[in-house]
Amino acid sequence: MDYYSKEINQLIEEFTRLPGIGAKTAQRLAFHVIHMPKEEVEQFANTMISARRNVRYCKSCFTLTDQEYCPICRSDNRDKHTIMVVESTRDLAAYEKTGKYNGLYHVLHGAISPMLGIGPADIRIRELLVRLQQEDIKEVIIATNSSLEGEATAMYISRLIKPSGIKVSRIASGVPVGGDLEYIDEVTLSRALDGRVEL
Ligand code: ZN
Repeated sequence: MDYYSKEINQLIEEFTRLPGIGAKTAQRLAFHVIHMPKEEVEQFANTMISARRNVRYCKSCFTLTDQEYCPICRSDNRDKHTIMVVESTRDLAAYEKTGKYNGLYHVLHGAISPMLGIGPADIRIRELLVRLQQEDIKEVIIATNSSLEGEATAMYISRLIKPSGIKVSRIASGVPVGGDLEYIDEVTLSRALDGRVEL
C-alpha cells in the first residue's frame, strides 16, 4: 500500500483493526471518511471518544451504561425479584427487543471456557452471588448461549445457586446450538423464555 501517503495508510490500518473489516472494506471506509465534510468527521470522532470515556458497567447488573446504574435497574416498573443472566449487553438488548421480559438482568461479560482459559473468576459470577444475598430474588433465569461454553456456564451457576433455595431456570432450547442470542429472532427468543425449564 505504498502508493498511498502515510496518513491515508494509517487511516486504512486503523479500520483494519475493527472486527469484520478486511483490507478492501478498510480502504473503502478510509476514502469515505476523507471525502466526508470535516464537521461530520469531527462529530463522529468525538462521539467515539466520548462513548469510550463515559460508558461503564452498571453497578448492579454490569451491563454497559453511561450512568452509575442502567435505566433497567433504575426503573420502578421492573420486577425486582427476577434476574436473567446473559453473556453480553447485546444479549440483554435482544431480550429487551422482545418486550416479553420485565425483570432485571445480570451481564456476565463472557462464558466459562477452559479452551480459552476463561474461568469462573474471569466473568461476573461472584457479583451475581453477592446480588442474590443482598436483593430479594425469587428466580434466576439463565439465558447464556446454547454453545458449549454457555451450557457449561449455566451448569456451573445453577449448581452454585441451587443450595440457596432460589428457583433456577434455563431458557428452552430452540435457540440454535452455538447461535449468538443477538442474531435470533424475537419470536424464537420469547418462546425460549416462555418454555424455560427449572434446573
Ligand atoms: Zn443495571
